[in-house]
Amino acid sequence: MGKSPRVLVVNSGSSSLKYQLVEPETATAVTSGLVERIGEPGGVADHGEALREALDALEPLDEAGIVAVGHRVVHGGPDFGAPVLADDEVVAKIHALIPLAPLHNPANVRGIEVARELLPDVPHVVVFDTAFFHTLPEAAATYAIDTEVAQEHGVRRYGFHGTSHQFVAHAAAELVGRPVEELNQIVCHLGNGASVSAVRGGVAVETSMGLTPLEGLVMGTRSGDIDAGIVFHLARTAGMSIDELDVLLNRRSGLKGLAGVNDFREVHRLIAEGSQAAQLALDVYLHRLRKYLGAYLAVLGGVDVITFTAGVGENDDAVRAGALAGLERLGIVLDPERNAGRVKEPTIISADGYPVTVAVVPTNEELAIARQALALT
Ligand code: AMP
Repeated sequence: MGKSPRVLVVNSGSSSLKYQLVEPETATAVTSGLVERIGEPGGVADHGEALREALDALEPLDEAGIVAVGHRVVHGGPDFGAPVLADDEVVAKIHALIPLAPLHNPANVRGIEVARELLPDVPHVVVFDTAFFHTLPEAAATYAIDTEVAQEHGVRRYGFHGTSHQFVAHAAAELVGRPVEELNQIVCHLGNGASVSAVRGGVAVETSMGLTPLEGLVMGTRSGDIDAGIVFHLARTAGMSIDELDVLLNRRSGLKGLAGVNDFREVHRLIAEGSQAAQLALDVYLHRLRKYLGAYLAVLGGVDVITFTAGVGENDDAVRAGALAGLERLGIVLDPERNAGRVKEPTIISADGYPVTVAVVPTNEELAIARQALALT
């Protein structure tokens, strides 16, 4: 009896490389690890060395049973609406998308290149964070700016966290025991990065992240939605450069900008100590999330299932309760006991007898990537 096939899932970031050996058929993570400080003092020299270290940590490679490698790539641009086998042409295309995702795609491409060198005998499959949102209707994907400028520079809503939104929408349908094709769903992926999506019949019709992962909800360190005029204002009056504004909005904003900390556990601790800044951060976070929920209720014309996932969504009952408080008239009522505490497996947290089911479904992007990679091999 041979082993169940295994997929090595690689998430190659600018200074770290995360890997997980997954058995998609049994939904098991066999091993996982993280190589940090790539290219930094005290760390490994480059992504090649990082992956070599990862492979060394696996059992003898010929016994590890790897039938494919699944690579997470953040930006698939306008071309990629589904996972693809990585050949030279695909790698060149992902390279060409670097201007759309300068912080992520370079390291993602590097990961694919070194993995293809080190594991040349297995197929490499690329799974894009944007792919699930390839179906967004034009009305949702289009920014109301000059069409020629937008087209020339690829300016449109792409959306991110797509692997998670898709995985969770399917898992939530399974949880409620109805075909995904019949359901209107809202998925709230609330992690350090956060996004919300509207999914009709398993197909994404709207999402909060845009050209980049900066738009939408308040996040750990990102502002989410702001008036674009703020950028001009700060450039003109504060003399801030594009790079400084990038750092401001991506790394010095969100919970971090408002409360000084980006982790919700810390935000709650500060609130308990009486911090008004932390209370305001929570209030702004919840207000923004509720605005999106209301908007997506209207986009969908009613919702059957609302699901929370990722670090905050799975662990923070106060955020879940705050997001949905006072929505009885919309058919949304949580059961406080079911909602209490951290949720580790797919769980319904709404009260019985109301039209909207609210659920928590732990996301598992590695399993989703492994399944998609195996399906292509
Ligand atoms: P992620 O990006 O999905 O890994 O989520 C990370 C975030 O989840 C952290 O920054 C925290 O804000 C949040 N988080 C993790 N564990 C907890 C917890 N026990 N309670 C509240 N928030 C948590």
